[in-house]
Amino acid sequence: MKKEKCPMCKQSSSAKFEPFCSEKCANKDLGNWLTGKYYIPGEKVNDEMINENPEIIDIIKKDKLDF
Ligand SMILES: [Zn+2]
Repeated sequence: MKKEKCPMCKQSSSAKFEPFCSEKCANKDLGNWLTGKYYIPGEKVNDEMINENPEIIDIIKKDKLDF
């Protein structure tokens, strides 16, 4: 079995948060996604995304992002 590394910080990933090492890195990735790194042009965060990923709300509040 190959050892995955966290794509955010390159440390060994944790089984709980894979492929990330920690919740912090997983959230950071989601935050990047929301703020545009993985943003699909023309699409916005919508209710469906929020229903599927309720933690988006917390991240948006924390980072003071607006839709
Ligand atoms: Zn990490």
